[in-house]
Amino acid sequence: MSDLDTFRTETRQWLEANCPPAMRTPPGEGEIVMSGSRMRFQSEDQRIWFERMRDKGWFAPDWPVEYGGGGLDGASTHVLETELSRLKCRPPQVNLGIWMIGPVLLEFGTPGQKQHFLPPTARGEMGWCQGFSEPNAGSDLASLKTAARIEGEEFVVTGSKIWTSGAQDADYMYALVRTATGGTKQQGISMVLIDMRAPGITVRPIDLISGKSHFCQVFFDDVRVPVTNLVGPLNEGWNVAKRLLQHERRAMSKFAELNMPGPNLVAVTQKFQGDAQGRIISPVLRDKVAALDMEAHVQRLTQQRIVEMAKARKDVFNVSATMKYQAAETEKKSMETMVAALGWQGLTWEDAGVAMDAREATKQWLASKALSIAGGSSEVQLNIIAKRVLGLPE
Ligand SMILES: Cc1cc2nc3c(=O)[nH]c(=O)nc-3n(C[C@H](O)[C@H](O)[C@H](O)COP(=O)(O)OP(=O)(O)OC[C@H]3O[C@@H](n4cnc5c(N)ncnc54)[C@H](O)[C@@H]3O)c2cc1C
Repeated sequence: MSDLDTFRTETRQWLEANCPPAMRTPPGEGEIVMSGSRMRFQSEDQRIWFERMRDKGWFAPDWPVEYGGGGLDGASTHVLETELSRLKCRPPQVNLGIWMIGPVLLEFGTPGQKQHFLPPTARGEMGWCQGFSEPNAGSDLASLKTAARIEGEEFVVTGSKIWTSGAQDADYMYALVRTATGGTKQQGISMVLIDMRAPGITVRPIDLISGKSHFCQVFFDDVRVPVTNLVGPLNEGWNVAKRLLQHERRAMSKFAELNMPGPNLVAVTQKFQGDAQGRIISPVLRDKVAALDMEAHVQRLTQQRIVEMAKARKDVFNVSATMKYQAAETEKKSMETMVAALGWQGLTWEDAGVAMDAREATKQWLASKALSIAGGSSEVQLNIIAKRVLGLPE
């Protein structure tokens, strides 16, 4: 038996013995543990699963042991991920620090930064948010204006970031700031790590039309950040940011793996537009629902293939831009059809007469609007597909 086979057998046995059965079901709404110092568990099983995986170093299985990781090589990490998905284990926690800034610090960080930031992140004690977008810099990220001037041993940061997911609970933000002007807009950008408890930071949650919000606008009013928190060279943060965005694309496919349950197009349409046997009465609606259901099924299979390709360290950039566009558009069409099938119950969730699943479906329809914006808008994905996949001229 090879070492890898032995590792597979031992890992399978360990997971069977240590992953509580309740943690082998898809997480419900609000059941994902976002790790960090303000983390909350909703059940004893969540806590047990979190602590057992933390103690193995398996939140970050391929990070070196000295930084709190599992010290696994690529092949063993792949085995672990395969065994976790075979058993349908929930992720014990989610943290942008582990998925995005951690790998960037391993590559670009100073020894001091690695020692200070990586171990608490790998243990789930330090939560992170991403400070890239600004009110006038989203798709055109390099137009960002949040400024950082150097005073002695500190940066002094002024400006604002927007659409910052999870900023209200995060301990640190990895942020892009402008440290020089002149030259191209990509020049003069630097990446810094900002303590979210530093004086001068104001975090304001933004209400969404779907009724729940993990979004914030963050304001910086002369916020002091040690110069030792600069990641990579001064004024050359754009290259660091591009590497981080590569890790973000991989993380987006991990989100797809979370397999959240929710109102289902077929079930909702059968309930609200079906006959006594639950068959959809209108042939036009029936055809539409069947076509969308097949499209979604094909996408799930393709998504799974991309996840496997990414795990095998294959280049998934082109195919994931295509899938990101296609999946967002199909999901939005499905949600439109679902909410139309609800009739008047799709117009409000405040009326006491509205069924519980109709309320959830309506919220999901509103939340689906974000899919073609988050992680790069659909139009920007089409630009990428035109240039990088189809090879069309600028
Ligand atoms: C759920 C969600 C989570 C997010 N989390 C974060 C986060 O944690 N941190 C963070 O920094 N940001 C986050 N964002 C912000 C996200 O990255 C931006 O919203 C996104 O990049 C689009 O930028 P924008 O909103 O400024 O829109 P704009 O860039 O202003 O775009 C407006 C419209 O113009 C179109 N457009 C823009 N440029 C082009 C072009 N060249 N060609 C054709 N059409 C174009 C866009 O497609 C869009 O329809 C999040 C967004 C969402 C929805």
